[in-house]
Amino acid sequence: MDRIDLGINLSSVRERIAAACRESGRGVDEVKLIAVSKTHSSAVVREAMRAGISVFGENRVQEAEGKIAELGREGLEWHLIGHLQSNKTRRAVQLFDVIHSVDSEELAERLERICLQEARERLDVLIQVDLAGERSKSGIKVSGLRPLIERLAGFERLRLKGLMVLPPFFDDPEATRPYFRRLCELRDELLPGGELSMGMSHDLCVAIEEGATMVRVGTAIFGERDAVPA
Ligand SMILES: *Cc1c(COP(=O)(O)O)cnc(C)c1O
Repeated sequence: MDRIDLGINLSSVRERIAAACRESGRGVDEVKLIAVSKTHSSAVVREAMRAGISVFGENRVQEAEGKIAELGREGLEWHLIGHLQSNKTRRAVQLFDVIHSVDSEELAERLERICLQEARERLDVLIQVDLAGERSKSGIKVSGLRPLIERLAGFERLRLKGLMVLPPFFDDPEATRPYFRRLCELRDELLPGGELSMGMSHDLCVAIEEGATMVRVGTAIFGERDAVPA
């Protein structure tokens, strides 16, 4: 991916975001673009930085580690958007600014404990909600959401900022709308004013129409990824 393609892709993503905001009567500054740089090298991330991106999403702690070591954290925001394994929790606390994938009380407790140990003053987190009931996917069931929110309210270092969803993939972005709408309802009911992390390359417009405040966009910015084992 060269600089020119990246620049063109980025402007077209920004235009889609702006159009969706316009159509739904929202301001463009209400939607944060997270550039999902997973599988792409530090060199590519550096090009994206030159193109004006400062917020990056990674789904694996180990992969992010090398990039963050090389590119630093100064002036950048690194978001963990993938499932967090318990043996990677400490590294995640050391590396990331925001974690989108908190999905159990156990993980939340571990994160809080490690923040205290690492003298990390504050860690912003989102709860990943499983709206599809797919056993392969991570995320907390809706029935567990309220207890987890209540549990997080008692923590000192973790700051619950919002909810995240990774719906099943549909070719037609309209098919994803009910998931986005449901997450928005849950936010209104249980976490008024919270962020909604939802929408990817092919369905970001629908997500914004349904209230997304953070969109996680990889392919539309960086091009197709080589297949990687899940
Ligand atoms: C890879 C990934 C994305 C970005 O997907 P694209 O379709 O490439 O935009 C968003 N969210 C999560 C959780 C991901 O793993």
